[in-house]
Amino acid sequence: MTEYNKLTDKLINQIERTFGAETVIYNDKFALEPFGKDEGAEFFALPELVFTPQDESNIKEILEIALKNKVPLTVRGGGTGVTGAAVPIFGGIVLNMQKLNKILDIDKKNFCVETQVGVINKVLQDAVEKEGLFYPPDPNSLDNCTIGGNIATCAGGPRAVKYGITRNYVYNINAIFPNGAISNYGGRYEKTATGYNLTHLLIGSEGTLAIFYRAVLKLLPYPNKVIDLLAPFKSFEDASNAIPKILAKNLQISVCEFIDNRAIKYSEKFLNSKFQYSDEAAAQLLIQVDGFDEEEVEKISERCAELLLEFNALDVFIASDKKNKEKLWGMRRNLRDALKHIGKDKLGEDVTVPRSRISELLIGARKIGKLHKINVVSYGHTGDGNVHINVVKDDLSDEDWQLRKRLAINDILDLAIKLDGTISGEHGIGLAKKKFLFKRLSNAEINIMKQIKKTVDPSNILNPGKIFDF
Ligand SMILES: Cc1cc2nc3c(=O)[nH]c(=O)nc-3n(C[C@H](O)[C@H](O)[C@H](O)COP(=O)(O)OP(=O)(O)OC[C@H]3O[C@@H](n4cnc5c(N)ncnc54)[C@H](O)[C@@H]3O)c2cc1C
Repeated sequence: MTEYNKLTDKLINQIERTFGAETVIYNDKFALEPFGKDEGAEFFALPELVFTPQDESNIKEILEIALKNKVPLTVRGGGTGVTGAAVPIFGGIVLNMQKLNKILDIDKKNFCVETQVGVINKVLQDAVEKEGLFYPPDPNSLDNCTIGGNIATCAGGPRAVKYGITRNYVYNINAIFPNGAISNYGGRYEKTATGYNLTHLLIGSEGTLAIFYRAVLKLLPYPNKVIDLLAPFKSFEDASNAIPKILAKNLQISVCEFIDNRAIKYSEKFLNSKFQYSDEAAAQLLIQVDGFDEEEVEKISERCAELLLEFNALDVFIASDKKNKEKLWGMRRNLRDALKHIGKDKLGEDVTVPRSRISELLIGARKIGKLHKINVVSYGHTGDGNVHINVVKDDLSDEDWQLRKRLAINDILDLAIKLDGTISGEHGIGLAKKKFLFKRLSNAEINIMKQIKKTVDPSNILNPGKIFDF
């Protein structure tokens, strides 16, 4: 285990003098506290100092200070991660990237955007949309998460079904490794076969290999015609089985979200709102069709609706206007908070299986809930094989909750692996899943990862204690 030094008053003064008082927070528990946690809420550790770089050159300088003084450095974007990956468990410095948020160039000739990585996902999406361009990765936290955090976790989102995940949109990352090397592997182009792809190595590295400060992201033409369909099903099994069946029709739908009716019930209480069919349905599917040609999009939506009814949907609602869309998506985006607040506590997994096996996963998870006498509530992307399976505390005693959630989560991860899947599709490992990494990866694979970490960060300064111990 690596030993670290505490920040001395002398060092704090040096950092403050070098970069300016407005760039640092220290000695103020109240102001430091938000930087000691993420949205996972399971982990907390107070940083000794938060440093907010004002320009890119500050990053190299603070990294050198951390290395010289053997102080851990944890990079933080929007802090919306749910695995504790941005929690500074060994204290030290938190590098708050949110001021490095300039969109540098929307390049219409090469269909890409060069941006600093502290920019919020939705801000970037809106900026490129004004130019008729489209950045598809849309994690449901898009109002608060940064592009840097998205790259570091390889975030996905509802639109991954048609458009893929963050990995598919990163042409280049400007990053600095703790050993001083700079990565500028890619460019304003997609194709590269130039040795090992360092850009792809950094995607999903959870702040453990390098600090990113800029990126070039691929853009597409903006699909301005979008239709959402909501299909309630009386039977949970029918709704689950409809997913692979509808995907097999290859209609090029962009979103296929599954929402267990148990989740809708929490949402109704949380939002103080009523959703159609919430009393009759056991689950609902939220499907989106998008494109450039109005007639074509309408035709595909109609075909989808026919199929959903054929697969036993009780009804199909079509939302093409802004108000109805907002209501639908508002409910979907609030599910996490609804479960957490109305269900008193929750723990969610983001397992992924081949999409043909998604119904086995959803049905199997329910059985696990029954076995361990705990409420299992599922919702999420499903169309790409990834789903959020949550256990919810409700009225369990604290003791029961701790025991049952542990047993259920263990079984859910095992089930995903049994179905040829994996333990995380988009949230990453962080602290939360570190102890489960061995379930999916061999020792040989984990050792290769450790060797990579050792090569670029021999002092184990950058976000230590995440993904694996080292
Ligand atoms: C309501 C809600 C909905 C969500 N929905 C989704 C979803 O649909 N899909 C999905 O994939 N995730 C989702 N998430 C999880 C989370 O939003 C994503 O993991 C997101 O990508 C994290 O981005 P962030 O900027 O908040 O990163 P942070 O939480 O700040 O950090 C996450 C990791 O990235 C590293 N990091 C951040 N910036 C940098 C950088 N510049 N250089 C190097 N490393 C860096 C950190 O060290 C840490 O390891 C959701 C979370 C919430 C709370």
